[in-house]
This record gives sequence, structure tokens and C-alpha cells, in this order.
Amino acid sequence: MKFVFVTGGVLSSLGKGITSASVGLLLKSRGLKVTIIKIDPYLNYDAGTMNPYQHGEVFVTDDGGETDLDIGHYERFLNENLSKRNNITAGQVYLEVIERERQGKYLGATVQVVPHLTNLIKERIKEVAKDYDVTVVEIGGTVGDIESLPFLEAARQMGLEESSFYLHVSYVPFVKSVGEIKTKPTQHSVQRLREIGIQPDALVARGERPLTSEARRKLALFSSLPLRAVVSAHDLDNVYRVPFLLADQGLDDLIFEKLGLGVYADRSLDDWRDFTERVESSSRELKVAIVGKYIEVRDAYKSLIEAVGHAGARIGVRPRITLVDSIRLEREGTESLRDYDAIIIAGGFGRRGTEGKIAALRFGRENRVPTLGICLGMQLMTVEWARNVLGLEGAHSEEFQPDTPHPVIHLLPEQRDIDRLGATMRLGGQDVLLKEGSLLRRLYGKDVVRERHRHRYEFNNAYREAFVRSGLRIAGETEGLVEALEWPEHPFYVGVQFHPEYTSRPLRPNPVFVGLLEAALG
Ligand code: GLN
Repeated sequence: MKFVFVTGGVLSSLGKGITSASVGLLLKSRGLKVTIIKIDPYLNYDAGTMNPYQHGEVFVTDDGGETDLDIGHYERFLNENLSKRNNITAGQVYLEVIERERQGKYLGATVQVVPHLTNLIKERIKEVAKDYDVTVVEIGGTVGDIESLPFLEAARQMGLEESSFYLHVSYVPFVKSVGEIKTKPTQHSVQRLREIGIQPDALVARGERPLTSEARRKLALFSSLPLRAVVSAHDLDNVYRVPFLLADQGLDDLIFEKLGLGVYADRSLDDWRDFTERVESSSRELKVAIVGKYIEVRDAYKSLIEAVGHAGARIGVRPRITLVDSIRLEREGTESLRDYDAIIIAGGFGRRGTEGKIAALRFGRENRVPTLGICLGMQLMTVEWARNVLGLEGAHSEEFQPDTPHPVIHLLPEQRDIDRLGATMRLGGQDVLLKEGSLLRRLYGKDVVRERHRHRYEFNNAYREAFVRSGLRIAGETEGLVEALEWPEHPFYVGVQFHPEYTSRPLRPNPVFVGLLEAALG
């Protein structure tokens, strides 16, 4: 087993996730079997119960994990499905240690962070790594955080047992007032790392500007690294170019040497290069509104924004995405939606902002603007249709109005007796059957597709007849559960109960978004 441990210095949100994903892609492109693990030092068991304001989007894996959004970056770069086991949290390992203690498995020993917790962390990492040539392990947070200490200690110990490469990603700011790149914060964070017993093998310097040779020399000297092990990772307009930026400076070669990976194939990144070039050369702009309520944090709709970009690159258009506040639409009306070529109604939880989403759906329907409702977006599409087309006054989802006279969206039967919040939704990949002759069937080009879910409520089949009679088509189903709706008399009016954004990849855009943008072009 071979490992690349990725640590962070100075600041969070530096792009450690993109760096880890890029390293993974580079190693994979040379013929290795690679996977990537994300370690989150918080005490939540998983990301499922976290508010998007706290931690951005919850990424859902095919095996039903509610994981950190970095897992989404890894899947998009590696173009592979990862497991929920690829996201290890402090909550999971602490809980397991205590459970083992309660079962008497420690035979009377005093149970301690070192070695019991650190052993378990190593066990969890190796269990994922055993099927791969190289495993990249990204340790969340910043060196110096109290919470990440046991994980850094485990990473240090792994270096004694397995061949390991330590990559430190740190912030190197450009200070405008003095016109200089400052290396001091990074020098300090490398010192913190050494105190823990980890000497980095390479430094990835994140900043607004490329490293000057002077800054590179200083960083190398203070970190005891050769010059070539200091890599400049300045801001790029297109994050999908980061692998090339790292490769051009020889980072993957350095990893190959240190890990003794021998001679492997040359990089084959032609598909990836094609994709990044298509992103940049697409000239025609399409304005896309994503209507949601978590608009202050762009990360809350990470996969969705990426998925629209993948589809754009596929058909040669450049989507310009605006996050539109559903609560503002409630106050100010939907006139502002006239500016857009396509509207996406995002998923979500809780009543706040739902009337704004319903108004946006009505706008899209009446003005023939290509409109896609995802999860809650599909559920509210049902509510809007019930109220304004079927005339069912007061129709709603039971989630928001339990005593509605017309519960057109109601609780999934298996949800009735659940009283815990964590990991209890309908989660993960499932086969969806697409109806012969439907738009979705044509877009996907097959009749069974596997898509991912995260919901408690569903379309109420008691109203099925009424919907179908009024012209709405049930375009997708899973064992009687309505998975997709479309209105054939509209250029594109589609609702999906699943989340197509989670399976969209640069090299394999999800057809639902391609269809939406094609309709917006037409
Ligand atoms: N709140 C809705 C449900 O639980 C929709 C969830 C979502 O959009 N992910 O069914």
C-alpha cells in the first residue's frame, strides 16, 4: 500500500480538495489504481445532518453515504464512484472506539487516543486502500487545529509502516500594499507540521499570483525541500486545469520517485484536455438561474453548478449561473426571471422559501422557459400544478403543511416510524425506469438509469390519475414511486425526484442538464 497524505496550512478553503483530486487524476492517468479518502475532523458522524450554511452541499454517494462535498470533487476528477467509506469523520472513529470498549474488546486496557483511536484511524484508511496502488488521504482542517491532531498522528505513524508521501497545501498571500508575496505564514505552518513529526515532501503554494523565484527559494529553504518540490498553485479561472498546473511542475514525478512507483506509462490526459479546452472555447452564453435559499454560500450548490458546466462544455455553450434567492422572489415577484434562458429549482428542506420556488415554477411553466425541478423542486412542481392547473386549492406537501386538504406530496411509507435524523432518508443510487416515448428516455438513450436520491417525501399516487389526465407525463418510476414528471407541451418542463447533479462528470455530463441547455438554446 502506498499513500499520499495531504495536509493544509494557514487557512481552510484553500482548495485542498481540488489539489487532492488533481493528484489522484495525475496518478490515475499514468496507469495506477487510485482512490481518495477525505478525513473530516468534526464530531458529526457524517455530513447528513449539517446545514449547508455550515459546510456547503452534502454529497450523496451511490452506496447511500451523505458525505463531504470533496467526495464530489474526487468522483468528478477520477470519473469513478466512491464509497461512503471514503469519508472518515472523527464522529465515526470515536463512536467505534467507544463501542469496542463497551464490548470489552480492549481486554481491560485504558483506552486512549494513542494508540486506540489512532490504530482505528489507520485500520479504516487501510481497509479502503487495500484494493488500490495508491491512496490519497486528504486531512480536513488546518495543521494546528485541536481536532485534527489524532489524524495527523495516525498519518505520521503510517509513514513508518507504509511508503508515504506528505504534501502540504498552504496559503502564500500576495500583499498589495507592499507588492510582495509573503511566505511567513507558510513557514510557520510547516514548523507546526514538523512539531507533530511530519516533514513534508512537497509544498503546494496556493495564492492569487504565481510564486516568484525568490518566494520559491525561501519556501524551499525554510521547509528543507529541493526547489522542485515547491509547487506554485495560483488561482486559475478553470479548476479543471489544476492537474496540468501541477503536472507541468513535475509534482507527479516527484511522488513517483518517493513512493518508488517505478516506471509507469506517460500521462494520458487527452480527454481531460479536450474537456478543459471545450470549457474555455465555448463562446455562446446561456443565462441560467438556480433558484434556492442557500444562495450566500456558492458551495451549497456545488455539484449542481458543476453539472451545468459539464453540460455546457458538451454542447459548446458557456452557462452564466446566477443563484436566485427564493425568499426574494416571494417578496418581489418573479419578473426578474425574465432575464434567464433556463431555470433550475434546487432541492432543499424546510418551508422557508418554498412559495418563492412555487412562483418560479409557475413563471417557467407559463412563460415557456426551460425549467428543471430537482427533488424538492419536483415536489413543488407537483404542488404548483395541483394548485394552478388542477385547481386543488391549498394543495401542498405534507412536509410543510401536515393538514393540507390535498397532500399531493406525502411521506414515503417506510419513513412513517422513523424518529432519528441521521442517515434515515431514502438515500443513494437506485434504478429508475424511464417511460417509452418520454423526453428523458430520449435524452438518456436507455430505459433504465441509475440515479441517486436523498429524500423523505414522494409524489402521492392517489392524485396520479388527475395529473396524467391533465397532460403531465409520469416519465420515470421506481417500483410505483414517481421519479420524474414532464409536460410534453412545453419546450422543457421536467421534474426529477433524484439528483442528476451527483452523477454528472466532466467526461460524462448528465443528460438531464444537456437536455435543459439544449432546450434553452433552441
Ligand atoms: N425535503 C424534501 C424531502 O425530504 C426534498 C429533499 C431534497 O430536495 N433533497 O423529500
